[in-house]
Amino acid sequence: MISFLLGCICAAAVAAGVGVAGYLRRGQFARNLAWVASRVRDGDLRTRMQPVRSGVEAELAHDVNRMLDALSERYEQLGQERDLLDHVLDHMSTGVLYIDPSGLILMMNRTAGRIFGVDPRDWLHAPHWRVVHPYNLNAAIDEALLFGRDWHQMVTVTEEQVLDFRVVCVSGPGSVGAGERARPPRYYALVLCDDVTQRHRLENMRRDFIANVSHELKTPITAIHGFAETLADESLDADTRASFLQIIHEESARMGRLVGDLLTLSRLESQADVLHPVSVRLREVAEQAVQTVQAQAEKLQLSVGISAGEDVFVTADAEKLHQVFLNLLVNAMHYTPAGGRIDVSWEMDAGKATVHVRDTGIGIPEAHQQRIFERFYRVDRDRSRATGGTGLGLAIVKHIVTAHGGEVGVRSQPGAGSDFWFTLPRCTTE
Ligand code: ADP
Repeated sequence: MISFLLGCICAAAVAAGVGVAGYLRRGQFARNLAWVASRVRDGDLRTRMQPVRSGVEAELAHDVNRMLDALSERYEQLGQERDLLDHVLDHMSTGVLYIDPSGLILMMNRTAGRIFGVDPRDWLHAPHWRVVHPYNLNAAIDEALLFGRDWHQMVTVTEEQVLDFRVVCVSGPGSVGAGERARPPRYYALVLCDDVTQRHRLENMRRDFIANVSHELKTPITAIHGFAETLADESLDADTRASFLQIIHEESARMGRLVGDLLTLSRLESQADVLHPVSVRLREVAEQAVQTVQAQAEKLQLSVGISAGEDVFVTADAEKLHQVFLNLLVNAMHYTPAGGRIDVSWEMDAGKATVHVRDTGIGIPEAHQQRIFERFYRVDRDRSRATGGTGLGLAIVKHIVTAHGGEVGVRSQPGAGSDFWFTLPRCTTE
């Protein structure tokens, strides 16, 4: 009996012991679960349940850990997709903004930040009107958000910035539904903007250029047409005929020069006319050019010469360099009254030669000095026409010098004369 009682007591003690151990294990499991849950809530997806050796808790811990494995893998994938999207958006040449129905910026790429002069990271969740300007662009975005209206326009923000601005409406979540529960549509705005300032400037230049060429050609064509028609009148005396023929000859020569200069410019610009830079003796090219204009200069009672300069070699295309000298010398002759002097000289600087073509002519007012290298820009249009100029001579000079890696400029004083200068790279080997 006693042994039976002792057996019962032992069994009860063992059962109680097992019960207490199970209780303690479950308590520890619950605490571990709570800790893991709080870590996950704080964003730590690497945390895992501590292993449990056996029982339901072991299975549960294993399942929770597998769930966390799957979650962190998905989270990592999502992160990679987001990085990829950010990378693509940041390398787009188009500025992109995504704006929510209440007008707050949800996304802005780097290009948009550059266009609007802000750092995209500082302006997320800011109202669009604090970033986008001018006002009419914000009005377009508001219309898109309110009424679902797309918008597309070329906008001149400032003289320095022209934007191709497009607002595309995107129906957002919450706009679906039917019957009584239907909600008004909620629109998001996708803003796409391209900085087309450069393209716009080029188009304007092209338009101006065509207008200028047409205008330049129109004058000689009209003259030739008129005088040729009059020549058909047989009653004209021989002297009048001869003078009309002379005018036709001059005007057609003017057209020839204009077309020639235009072709030179276009060849230089299209780079079809590749430079052949070699070692060139500067004095030799200068002397040839002076010789070419000498007879004409004498007729105009002008003296042309080369003042002493170091005997140097430059890296240049000799034919193009000859053209630069000719254009500058011819200009100097056109704008220097009889009795004047034209002088060519050069000096050496570190690694480059600076060449001067100086005259004692009419000079150029300061306000025009920056612009005379533009095509068709003239200080005095009538005077240029009277000399037979095309308005392209200095543009050609600038093109050739720049293609050689040099610079060109002018110093001038009205009434005292001009000093046209350009630089060329010095050649160290002959
Ligand atoms: P153009 O055929 O009219 O001479 P250019 O391009 O050669 O065209 O020159 C542009 C303008 O620059 C000229 O119309 C003239 O007003 C001015 N210019 C050029 N060279 C001189 C100079 N040596 N002295 C005074 N003005 C000059």
